[in-house]
Amino acid sequence: MPTPDPKTMSAEDFITEVFDLAIKERASDVHFEAQTNSMRIRFRIDGLLEDRFTLPTTQLESVVNSIKVLANLDITVHEVPQDGHFEFYQLPSSSESKNIVSEKAVSSSLLTLGERFKGIFSKSGTTSGSVDASAQTGLSKKAPRVLDVRISIYPSINGESLVARILNRPDALLSLSDLGMMPDTLATVKKLIARDSGMVLVTGPAGSGKTTVLYSLLQELKSKEKNIMTIEDPVEFHLEWLRQSELKPERGFTFSRAMRSILRQDPDVIMVGEIRDQEAAEHAISVSLIGRIVGSTVHSNSTVGTIARFIDMNIERSMIAYAINGIISRRLVRRICQSCPVEYEPEPAQLSYFGLTSDSQKFFKGKGCADCRDTGYKSRIGIFEVLEFESELRSLIVAKAPMSELEAFTISHGMKTLKQDAVEKVLLGLTTLEEISKIV
Ligand SMILES: [Zn+2]
Repeated sequence: MPTPDPKTMSAEDFITEVFDLAIKERASDVHFEAQTNSMRIRFRIDGLLEDRFTLPTTQLESVVNSIKVLANLDITVHEVPQDGHFEFYQLPSSSESKNIVSEKAVSSSLLTLGERFKGIFSKSGTTSGSVDASAQTGLSKKAPRVLDVRISIYPSINGESLVARILNRPDALLSLSDLGMMPDTLATVKKLIARDSGMVLVTGPAGSGKTTVLYSLLQELKSKEKNIMTIEDPVEFHLEWLRQSELKPERGFTFSRAMRSILRQDPDVIMVGEIRDQEAAEHAISVSLIGRIVGSTVHSNSTVGTIARFIDMNIERSMIAYAINGIISRRLVRRICQSCPVEYEPEPAQLSYFGLTSDSQKFFKGKGCADCRDTGYKSRIGIFEVLEFESELRSLIVAKAPMSELEAFTISHGMKTLKQDAVEKVLLGLTTLEEISKIV
């Protein structure tokens, strides 16, 4: 792909090229930042921002305006934030996307610019962005892919800055076995969702891929005999075999309204995008107690921290103890590039922090090559800690045991901590001590 040059192309063509490149490079977000004398465009790839383009300020307005038009936003408003979205039709230029684009998409390079955006499929009556569940395995070549691009515009002293989040990306959907769980962790997680009711919670900081884990759990539960429903805000990945809903609070479709009505839709499994407050927690718990599997995410630092979070939300301890099947804590670290691994000697301080020595262990890193854009890393791998609820732990929670006691109990009962899982993955040559130092 030639480097997009805003001097020789229209703002619309430039934006198309930028998004094509972003998708090819597996970016999750594209930042258009107004600076004093220029606009900087950066891609977030594997969790980190990388510079891509710098445009003169004179081009800032036309680029921002074109995106506003695509996202149905007001081009005359500059002083307040605006949110919108548009759909972007993915072309099969990326090698990673070859499996998931249709023959129709192959011929789509002839499409006009207007057709690349806003989802040409919605015109033919098909739900935009629908992806056949088998598409990600490469079995289906019939499923077209429309990426959903969420736009946030925010006024800064240098002009409007714009962040585009790319949803419905192929790498956002992975099967449970592809998340990077060690076999023992995977077995525990399968046990948590094999029950016929109860909550399975996924926790971690923003950007740790909690929703990806939830979708993987749903895929594992996928069955013709089950009605799997979701309440999301927004829908991050469109899947045909799920009944997905997106909250629209401005039109009265609020979380509590959705939870009150969803049971009459006869669900077996419900995924709730995120539990943010007491009301959401209470709804989710009551649904799980009447015999449904409820999967959701919670912002917290650890598995035991999630219990503390629920207590802070004024949820009764007995409810917490008996409604939850288990909690999965997750982090993401960058994976060593498979094309350029070399052995190296880590810093002594780092080794001692993790209780390791270089005498008996080998350590690897990526040397840097064209494949990994000289970063030494390509794609990411999950680090996990899974807390399975069992009777002794439940009794401790009901008995108001302090969090420190719960923590000590989980470790003495064999729970593998995030740190232990991370170290295992370093010793397997999957990631580096530098990477895991950022998360544990
Ligand atoms: Zn490399």
